[in-house]
Amino acid sequence: MSFSELGICPEILEAIEVLGFETPSPIQARAIPPALSGADILGLSHTGSGKTLAFSIPALECIDPGLRSVQVLCLAPTRELAVQICREVDKLALFLDGVSAAPIYGGASFGPQLAALKRGVQFVVGTPGRVIDLMEQGELRVDNISMLILDEADEMLDMGFQEDIERVVAMLPGERQTLLFSATMSPAIRKLVDSVAQNPQEIEIERPQLTVPTCEQCVYEVVFSSRIEVLSRLIEMGRMKRGLVFANTKRVVDDIVDGLLARGYAVDRLHGDMPQTLRERVMDSFRKGNLTVLVATDIAARGLDIDDVDTVVNFELPRDPEDYVHRIGRTARAGRKGRAVSFIGRRDFSLLGRLERFVGVRMQREKVMTGTQVEEVRRESLVDEILEKAATSSDLPEALRDIDMPAEQLLAAMFNLLVSKTSRELQPIPEDRPSKFARSSRGADEDGASVEKGNDWSSLQQSVTLFMNGGKLLGLRPKDIAGLFYNEGGAPKGTVGDIRLFLKHSLIEVSPEIAPQLIERLGTCHICGYEVNIREDKGRPAQSNAPYEREFRPHDRERRGASYAGRGNGNFRRDSRERQDRSERVFYDKFSRRSRRRG
Ligand code: AMP
Repeated sequence: MSFSELGICPEILEAIEVLGFETPSPIQARAIPPALSGADILGLSHTGSGKTLAFSIPALECIDPGLRSVQVLCLAPTRELAVQICREVDKLALFLDGVSAAPIYGGASFGPQLAALKRGVQFVVGTPGRVIDLMEQGELRVDNISMLILDEADEMLDMGFQEDIERVVAMLPGERQTLLFSATMSPAIRKLVDSVAQNPQEIEIERPQLTVPTCEQCVYEVVFSSRIEVLSRLIEMGRMKRGLVFANTKRVVDDIVDGLLARGYAVDRLHGDMPQTLRERVMDSFRKGNLTVLVATDIAARGLDIDDVDTVVNFELPRDPEDYVHRIGRTARAGRKGRAVSFIGRRDFSLLGRLERFVGVRMQREKVMTGTQVEEVRRESLVDEILEKAATSSDLPEALRDIDMPAEQLLAAMFNLLVSKTSRELQPIPEDRPSKFARSSRGADEDGASVEKGNDWSSLQQSVTLFMNGGKLLGLRPKDIAGLFYNEGGAPKGTVGDIRLFLKHSLIEVSPEIAPQLIERLGTCHICGYEVNIREDKGRPAQSNAPYEREFRPHDRERRGASYAGRGNGNFRRDSRERQDRSERVFYDKFSRRSRRRG
C-alpha cells in the first residue's frame, strides 16, 4: 500500500515524499482513511508506530488556511512530546501555505506562546494545564476548533491529567471530531473515550515484542567516575561470566578496558577503528570464553553474533531507543535468562523514561552493591569453592600432617589467606555512602545501622519533602507544581507524591532518588510567571514557636470573601474575589522584591 491510496491531498503527499516515507505504517494505513472521512478514532498504538503522522495528516486536512484561528487542539502529556509533534506537523505542512503549529506548555514564559496564538496558528499542541490557563484567560479561543486529539492518553491519565482533560473538553464545541491515541487499554481509557468520542472506530496495532521477558532489565544510578568500580563489583559478585559492555564513544570504550585491565580482568575491546582481522580475533576470543568482558560501541558490535552473553551493561545510555533494543537483544537469547544493567546519571532520567516507554517495560531500580555486600558474596563463593574441592580431595598433604593445632584454627588461617590472595581491594565510591536523600528514607536496624527499605524509587512510601517558596498567594494549584516537576524537572512518572499548598510556601513529596535532580534543575525556576526557589525542606524554623504556616484550606478564602456575598450579583462577587486575589499577588510581589533587595 502507498500513501497515495489513502486519500491524502497532493500537498501533504509531496511533503511525505520529501520526508522520505515510502509506505504507510499499519496505524497510518488503518487510521488515516476513516479519520479523513470524519470518523472519531480510538487508536491503540505505541510510540514508534508512526501515530503522529496518523493523526497529523487528517488534522492538517481539516484546517482552513484562510482562517487564522485555532482549529485543531492536540493534548499531550509532556512538553517534549508537544514540541516533537509540532515539529512533525510543521514538516507535513511544508506545502500548505499559511498553516502552522505551535506548542503550549507549562513552566515556560507565556510570551512566545501568546505571540503564536496572536499570529493565528491553527494547530495547537499543548500540555493540559497550560492549555486550560490560556483558554480561561481567553487567549486560546475555542470557537473554531473542529478537531481534538489526545495523544498518549494513558500517559496523561497516569500523570493525573484526567480532570484537566475533562475541563478542556467541556469548553470545546460539541460539534467536533476526536482522535484519541493510547499505547494501552484500561477501564480509565475506556471511560475517557466514552466521554470524549462518538462511536469511535477502534484500531489496535499489535505491539511488536521489543525485548524478551527472560531479560531482566535494571538500572543503577551511578556517577560517571564510579562506573568502572561498579562494573568491577558486578563481575566480582559473579553476576557476569560473559558480559558485553556498551559505551557511546571509542574514548569511553578505551577508558573502560584500561580500568578493567588494571583490576586484572580478562577483557578486550571492539570499536570501529580496529582492522577487521583484529576485530575477528577479539570476537573469536570472546566466543571461546577467554574473555569475561567485551567492551564495544554500537557500530562495532553490529556483526557480533553470540548466543550466551549473560549480562549486557549500558555503561552509558544510548540516545536512540532502537540502539537500546539492539544492545540488550544480545542477551537472553534462545530462551535463556539474561540481564541488562544500565548505568544512569542524574541527567538521564528523562531519557530513561523515553526508553522505558519505547520498550514498554519499567526497569527495576537497584542500589549499587556496597563494598560489604561484595565482600560477603566473595566469601560465600569461596566457601562454595572450598566445599566443592573438599568433596573430591581427601588426602591431607604431607606438610600438614604433623601440625599440632586445632583444625578450626588452621582452617580459619587458610581461609583468610585465600581471601587476601584472591580479593581485590575495593575502591571506595560515593555510592557507598548513604546519600543525603537516601538517608532520609532509611530506617535503622537493631544495631543502629542504616537499612534499605526496598529499591523502587518510585515508591513514595519513602519520600523526601521539597520546599518551594510560593503557594496559594501566587494563585498556584497542585497541578501547576506537578506540571513544573514533570515537565521542567524531568521527574519520571509516579515520582511526585503529595503536594501541600500553604499561603506562602508549598511542600512537595518526591521520591528520594529524583530529589537531587529536581533541586538541581528547579533550584531557581519560574512558575506561573513568578520566580521561586526549591530546596529540600528543613522543617519549621528551630527557634520559632510560631506556627510554620497554616495549611491553606479552600474555605479560608470563602470566609474572607463572605462579606462580598449577597451584595450584588454573582459577577460582583467574582470580581471582588479576583480583586482580592490580585491585591494578594501585588502584595506578594512587593514583599518578595523587598526581601530580595534586602537579601
Ligand atoms: P511516532 O510513533 O509518531 O513517534 O513515529 C516514530 C518515528 O517513525 C518518527 O521518527 C517518524 O518520523 C517515523 N515514521 C512515521 N511514519 C513513518 C513511515 N510511514 N515510514 C517510515 N518512518 C515513519
